[in-house]
Amino acid sequence: MSIILFIIFILSVAAPSSVLAQSDSITFSSPLNFGLLLSGNFGELRSNHFHAGIDFKTQGAVGRPILAPADGYISRATVTAGGYGRAIYVTHDNGYMTVYGHLDSFLKPIAERVREQQYNDGYFVVDVSFEKDEYPVSCGDVIAFAGNSGYSFGPHLHFEVRANGGTQLVSPMRFYLERLTDTKSPRVQAVALTPREGEGVVEGGASTVTRKVIHSSVRDTLQAWGRVGLSVQCDDIMDNTSNKYGVYSIELYVDDSLRFSSRMDGYALADTRLINAWSDYERFFEKGEWFLRSYILENNPLPLLAADRNRGWIDIDEERIYNVKYRIADFHGNTTFCKFAIEGRRDSISQPCDSTAHYLYWFINNTVAYEGMRLDIPSGQLFANTTLAVQEQPSRYGISRCYNLNSAVVPLRKEARISLQVNGTSGLDPSKYYICRVGKKGSVAVGGEYKDGWITANIPLLATYEVAVDTVPPAVKPIAPKNWGRNGQIVFSIGDKGRGIKTFKGLLDGKFILFEYSSKSGRLTCNMRRENVKRGKHQLHLTVTDNAGNSTTIERTIIY
Ligand SMILES: [Zn+2]
Repeated sequence: MSIILFIIFILSVAAPSSVLAQSDSITFSSPLNFGLLLSGNFGELRSNHFHAGIDFKTQGAVGRPILAPADGYISRATVTAGGYGRAIYVTHDNGYMTVYGHLDSFLKPIAERVREQQYNDGYFVVDVSFEKDEYPVSCGDVIAFAGNSGYSFGPHLHFEVRANGGTQLVSPMRFYLERLTDTKSPRVQAVALTPREGEGVVEGGASTVTRKVIHSSVRDTLQAWGRVGLSVQCDDIMDNTSNKYGVYSIELYVDDSLRFSSRMDGYALADTRLINAWSDYERFFEKGEWFLRSYILENNPLPLLAADRNRGWIDIDEERIYNVKYRIADFHGNTTFCKFAIEGRRDSISQPCDSTAHYLYWFINNTVAYEGMRLDIPSGQLFANTTLAVQEQPSRYGISRCYNLNSAVVPLRKEARISLQVNGTSGLDPSKYYICRVGKKGSVAVGGEYKDGWITANIPLLATYEVAVDTVPPAVKPIAPKNWGRNGQIVFSIGDKGRGIKTFKGLLDGKFILFEYSSKSGRLTCNMRRENVKRGKHQLHLTVTDNAGNSTTIERTIIY
């Protein structure tokens, strides 16, 4: 290795680029006035994203006050049906921003501003920004109340620290290490060895081989030849909780030389989908198991990963034992080692031989066309060069052909475009057509636009697609209407079988009234007390519309 390459190697392995240029002297106090325990930590692996913050337990209750951890001002409040539910953003004098999700309620003046916006817009989903002098806060001031709103399954506070105007997620762990007790080391569940297509072989075959890790080791030696990559399944535990957490760092050594490392210090909000390149996405999609690759796919620029010149791929080109060691640490520095061996044994490497498959380069625009289907994958959307074997499948709905774009699902950095031709005979309103992803557990609506006999939609995943139709209006069901007057709450459950709910609108005596929707429960709720409804008889008019333009209207007399 030349000296320059050696230096590049050392730099790239030793220093995954840190997102923190800001001073280490900045501190944050606790946002809660009781002992801190986590139900989730930073960078944990979630479907299509990294966990952007840490989740503080709130003693199993909603309504706990949240305290400003540093001086600044409340700069934004948002309300959504899923996601963070009710959330606020605080811009701090120290240059950081903090975010608080799943709130039970806002401070009164914030709540009033949010409500005003909701009545202006005629809809409950809002995003309100505030000026610096409107709601200033000092360290220790109450800024909101913790809860369970949005996509949250138990009371907790989702807390984020952001830099660069909110575009960069920073690990909050470093600010709270001393307030959290963790004497327990990470756990390694399994390792997987993957032969690179056409360049390697593992245990005589071209597929990934998985081995359970027991007592920090793999019992038998794995045999391989050629170019192979390792992946690891691991998690972390902490004192005084039974939760499972993400690990902080992973280092892979082969014969004591560092080949790959990751450090969960932070990442850009725009990079969160790169989790699908770092992890073995197909494995997560099929089995719900998270295996993190210790090699870096060609189009995975995630800065928290670093590797040698081989991008972490290991060349087994001698008939000998290769000693592999994983060093995995949590945020507190508790460390676990996992050691095993790969035996280099000369073997023939099979070449992919499907002559109908498409070999796609990730760095160019690719178009794949079949009868009644066209797929456009823009340059930079595949995470690596990919062999795509397209197969037609029996259509479920008979509206278009059904295509399986590859036997294994292929995640994309953002999206590709698929067009499917609609059989010309049905005579239906074309706005009712949509593209759906066909899976083992049923179909998932993707959407799409109709033009000249074709439906075109953006897809984040190469999987199985066909056209379906949605002519069925949303289902709207009153929940325990007898209790509405007594409880002061009007509650409906709403759902839609096809393309899903797009919007809803409630009118009371002909005037807009606020209904809130929770995607978690599928319930639409109007709090009559909070909306200052007068006692007496009222006429409710509620319309729920789906993404295909079908709607259901309910007219009802309410006695309050
Ligand atoms: Zn969270």
